[in-house]
Amino acid sequence: MKHDTEFFKVKLDEELKTLEEELKTVGRINPSNPADWEAVPSNVDIDSADENELADKIEFYEDNSAILKQLEIQYNNVKKALAKISDGKYGICEVCGEAIEKARLEANPSAKTCKEDSLAKKN
Ligand SMILES: [Zn+2]
Repeated sequence: MKHDTEFFKVKLDEELKTLEEELKTVGRINPSNPADWEAVPSNVDIDSADENELADKIEFYEDNSAILKQLEIQYNNVKKALAKISDGKYGICEVCGEAIEKARLEANPSAKTCKEDSLAKKN
């Protein structure tokens, strides 16, 4: 079974762009490693900040780190899926090597496994 990779490539490109925008709101690209994102450090002036303000900033930074981690995972998944399109291996389950269901790819174009294997993993 051959998937309509052009259709999914467009969807994945869009998702990648959206994820990049979201990543920029909570982080920035690591200057020493362009493949890595880091959460934006709080730029509060520690000497002049009162205790409450400081606590807020730290909480904000921790939230950003958690969100960033999730976004980064998804971002890398999408990049991997795009690489598979170039390699002609898109839409193939990483566990059993069968074609991933079309409906599943439509719901999640960066899916790595077929429905059966994704369920098997959870249980
Ligand atoms: Zn499978």
